[in-house]
Amino acid sequence: MNVLVVNAGSSSLKYQLFDTTAGVVRAKGLCERIGIDGKIKHTNLESGAVYETEIAMPNHTVATKIVIDALTSAEYGSVKSMDEIEAVGHRVVHGGAYFSESVLVTDEVMAKLELCRDLAPLHTPAHIMGIEGCTEAMPGTPQVLVFDTAFHTASMPEKAYVYPVSYDMYEKYAVRRYGAHGTSHRYVAGECIKLLGGKAEGTKIITCHLGNGSSISAVKDGKVIDTSMGFTPLAGIEMGTRCGDIDPAIVPYIMNKTGMTPDEVNNYMNKKCGFLGVSGISSDCRDVCAAAKEGNHRAQLALDIVVYEIQKFIGAYTVAMGGLDAIVFTAGIGENDSAMRENVCKGLEFMGVDFDAEKNANRYSSATEISKPTSKVKVFMIPTNEELVIAKDTEAIVKAL
Ligand code: AMP
Repeated sequence: MNVLVVNAGSSSLKYQLFDTTAGVVRAKGLCERIGIDGKIKHTNLESGAVYETEIAMPNHTVATKIVIDALTSAEYGSVKSMDEIEAVGHRVVHGGAYFSESVLVTDEVMAKLELCRDLAPLHTPAHIMGIEGCTEAMPGTPQVLVFDTAFHTASMPEKAYVYPVSYDMYEKYAVRRYGAHGTSHRYVAGECIKLLGGKAEGTKIITCHLGNGSSISAVKDGKVIDTSMGFTPLAGIEMGTRCGDIDPAIVPYIMNKTGMTPDEVNNYMNKKCGFLGVSGISSDCRDVCAAAKEGNHRAQLALDIVVYEIQKFIGAYTVAMGGLDAIVFTAGIGENDSAMRENVCKGLEFMGVDFDAEKNANRYSSATEISKPTSKVKVFMIPTNEELVIAKDTEAIVKAL
């Protein structure tokens, strides 16, 4: 089945055209600067043809039409007409408490998605425009929504998702832990279960999605029992520009000291903290690592903090699951930064992690065990593939229609 996977961000739209039967990506592309000016880079992965141009994209509906033109182009396209695209799968950042699995787009689903606007004010409007753009350009083609929160909200127990604030905040305003990166955690946990023998029942896995945004999940019997991101993706460990968990009293304190408004302090915690804020150098882990190597104390501190926080989550989640079979590293940092993986695992020998530093030091493009064969707790590097999950969910839902 030809499935178009769409990931609409606040000013961007990434896409991949999958042939799910053959299990290959036929084309991929990225529209950027939507609402500003606009540019597209489209690659036909079968012929190698690349189309790159600057073109006005006042909104996501126009961007979607430009993507469709690229996909159907005689020169660099992959299909003769959009009729050949049998379904569209959309990545959706926040499904609130409404969605704990992927769903077919209907009027009722769109009405519920509207209710998630408040929970992801930057992303939800972009998703809605992306969906409407596809509806307009491909009327009649079924569309499916795959939520970043669903893997978490489907199975987290109440004690992990209700915050100890007054209960009316949960009842009236839906304040609870939702988590994020669920599609990535789901994919790598699934791959890890295959590597552990294929049976989810009885497995205890900690998945570390470490990228510009980072989150850690405890996956027991193939289901999430806790995750580090919370009401929003600001929670958890230190990230590129996000502070992660801090004493909540810091927020009113710095507002009083600096005169920041609620929106300004929210922006500050999302955009000016983390690696960038601590190091004063960059939000990019590679830049921070390079500065630390040259002896920059604050760069080293930013790295020490994140390693310490990851280890604390691993400790907490091991206790929460009553044991541990495997730790998985994924995403930009988790897949590529061998020093980060080594530093995290260095202190974990006491809990049965026998890390293979030599094996870990190499670069791998596919799932690899980086602990010694005798290690009681296995450690894996598993490249994530959120788009594949979206394509597969879309195919399954559309085939069942
Ligand atoms: P992502 O959000 O998953 O795309 O990950 C982005 C993060 O991965 C950035 O902080 C990058 O610096 C980091 N990253 C990518 N490649 C490497 C690498 N070879 N070493 C260290 N960090 C890397």
